[in-house]
Amino acid sequence: MDLKNENNRKRRAGSRGPEPDVDPQTPVLRISQLDALELDSALEQLVWTQFSQCFQNCRPGLLTPLEPELRVLLHLLLWRFTLYSSSATVGQSLLSLRYHSTFTLSPRYRPLSPRQKLGLAVLTAGPRWLQERSHSLLTGLGLSLQGPASERDSSLLQQGLRKALTLVSSIAKFASLINFLVFIRNGRHPVLAERITGARAVFSKPNVVRDVTYQYMNRELLWHGFAEFLIFLLPLINTRKLKATISSAVFGRQSADREGEGEGQEVWKECGLCGEWPTMPHMVGCQHVFCYYCIKSHTIADASLTCPKCGAEAGQPEVVKMEVEMFGR
Ligand SMILES: [Zn+2]
Ligand SMILES: [Zn+2]
Repeated sequence: MDLKNENNRKRRAGSRGPEPDVDPQTPVLRISQLDALELDSALEQLVWTQFSQCFQNCRPGLLTPLEPELRVLLHLLLWRFTLYSSSATVGQSLLSLRYHSTFTLSPRYRPLSPRQKLGLAVLTAGPRWLQERSHSLLTGLGLSLQGPASERDSSLLQQGLRKALTLVSSIAKFASLINFLVFIRNGRHPVLAERITGARAVFSKPNVVRDVTYQYMNRELLWHGFAEFLIFLLPLINTRKLKATISSAVFGRQSADREGEGEGQEVWKECGLCGEWPTMPHMVGCQHVFCYYCIKSHTIADASLTCPKCGAEAGQPEVVKMEVEMFGR
């Protein structure tokens, strides 16, 4: 909602002409520019997840053959309603940034031309698509040329194309590395596509404050660290044993014993660990009965296991021997 308002405001501002008080020469923090890219890719991932969930109930692997094309399509859809309409990606809008065209000599803000926006979309989505598709494209090309006479030619051609593609992609990677180093040096154009199309992130509002405050980030970091710690710690805690120790410390062992006495035959009807009808009933030395799997897994996990019902030392699980009376047929 906020975003839409912001965009509307921007569009209205655009129709009135550039805001006079935003100087595009004001340098933008490098971290904000990188954050904007990060937010954009997170958004794209989010949209993709939502989209693929729509096909959750269809045949599995339905989307896989078309995944690169669908991703490009979603990217273009996002591009149409964010960058194309307001000259800023979603991540940039969140951080009060927008693109400024560097192909202008005037010191005032100039939004990107449609051609620049298109170039940005093609240069962002194109290489990724090519990378994901290169293998199937090459094999497809090989198949279409396949014939008895041209088989050798096609394999040669395929090899040549593959080599050329590898060369081009390594040149592109190297260029983007150089671009990033230059970005770190002068703080402009974090990605190569922006440098080529002449798009530079500038502030959309004067006196901008980071929408994400450091206090919030600290809290987030702290909570994240705590959650990680819990994930590490929780499996190491034997909750059942802890519970048994605490309950025997609070209520005393005698009360548990008395409880056990009163139960009588009822104890045979449920497993002392899971509370269900015991499957393959086993005993550990006291009068309580357990499922084989319950007691076995617990004795493996905890060598000094005590019966959770009465607190008696648990020995090796033994099969419950029942005497079954046979009635005449
Ligand atoms: Zn059980
Ligand atoms: Zn017991």
